[in-house]
Amino acid sequence: MPTLCVYCGSSPGTDPAFAEAARAVGSLIGQQGWQLVYGGGRAGLMGIVADAALAAGAPVVGVIPQTLMVRELGHPRLTELHVVETMHQRKTMMAERADAFVALPGGIGTFEELFEVWTWRQLGYHDKPVGLLNVAGYYDPLLAFLGNSVDSGFVGTAQHRLLQVGTDPAELLRRLAHQAGQSPAPDDYRLI
Ligand code: AMP
Repeated sequence: MPTLCVYCGSSPGTDPAFAEAARAVGSLIGQQGWQLVYGGGRAGLMGIVADAALAAGAPVVGVIPQTLMVRELGHPRLTELHVVETMHQRKTMMAERADAFVALPGGIGTFEELFEVWTWRQLGYHDKPVGLLNVAGYYDPLLAFLGNSVDSGFVGTAQHRLLQVGTDPAELLRRLAHQAGQSPAPDDYRLI
């Protein structure tokens, strides 16, 4: 069963479209026979994705550092909940279990996770697709800035193209599933 790693806000955000998109992604994960791996919390969009995936019949794996169990409300009904020591262990386990990654709207935690797996991809630490779901234009300024980074000569066009950007959850997940199928990670691959 392929596994999709979802990064998203531990807050719901101000626009109801963010929660709608998170629900849609969770439902699609179940409908398309994926497993979800995510940060293990019940707060914000994280909880919404997990609940929707569970409701749609998907196995859901959460990975949460002990120190965040209270702040991000460790989810009590997951298929697996791994309580780890550090943020680095969390991110490594999530990334190792994933076949593809997608970031939804979120804050600095989401940005950091997205940029980390994107840079790992361009460095060749993994070969898994990385997507960004741009809901209600939330990421428009970031995408404009990334375009500026390409124009300014700091980000190569090949690196830029590694980030799959979409506005429709179903279409973006289809694209990620297709790419994950095309380039499965080698058995012995390890992150860093
Ligand atoms: P946020 O998007 O800031 O609401 O955070 C979303 C998730 O990213 C939360 O589960 C955070 O714990 C997690 N996260 C991962 N790495 C970091 C980091 N370096 N700083 C803050 N949050 C992080």
